[in-house]
Amino acid sequence: MARNFAAKLREKLASGALPNPSSLPTKYFVGRGTNGRCDGCEEFITPDQIESEINHGGRTLRFHARCLAEWHAISAESMYEVQAPVRGDAARQPFVDLVRDKLDSGLLPHDGATTLWAGIGSGRTCSLCEAPILITEMEYELEYDDGRRVILFHVSCHGLWEAERRRRGYAPPD
Ligand SMILES: [Zn+2]
Ligand SMILES: [Zn+2]
Repeated sequence: MARNFAAKLREKLASGALPNPSSLPTKYFVGRGTNGRCDGCEEFITPDQIESEINHGGRTLRFHARCLAEWHAISAESMYEVQAPVRGDAARQPFVDLVRDKLDSGLLPHDGATTLWAGIGSGRTCSLCEAPILITEMEYELEYDDGRRVILFHVSCHGLWEAERRRRGYAPPD
C-alpha cells in the first residue's frame, strides 16, 4: 500500500471526488468482485477478490477490501486533529477517545498486523467498539504471526485505529 496510493486518496477526499465515509451509512454490500473499477485504486476488482459496495447519491462506490480500509483510515486522520470535535462528526468522537485509551492500555496493538483478512461480518465482537460485526458489514480480521489473539474490527473502527497508530509513528501496512 504505497505512499502514492495514500496521496491519491487524500486528493480524492480533498477534491470531493470521494465523500468522507463518516457521512455515509455503514452498511455495505460485501461479496465477490464483479470486475468493476475500484473507486480507491482504480484497478479492476476481480472475482477472486472481496468487493464492497455502497450507494451514495445515486452512484455506487466499490472498493477492494484494502482500499476500503485505506479510505476509512485516511479520512479518520482529521478526527485526531485538535479541532476535530468541531470539524469532525460528534458520533465518532467517543470512539476516538476509546482508540486512545485502548492503545495506551495495550488492549489494542500499535503495530500493524502480519495479515489483514477481510470478509462478511461474522457476528463476532469488534475489538474497538465491542458491538457485533453484522453480516451486512465488512469485517476485518488482523492476524499477528507471534501467536497473539486475532483482532476484529468494523471498517470504520479499523480506520480510526489505523489513523491513530500511524499518527503515533507506526508504519502503515505494506
Ligand atoms: Zn482498490
Ligand atoms: Zn467496531
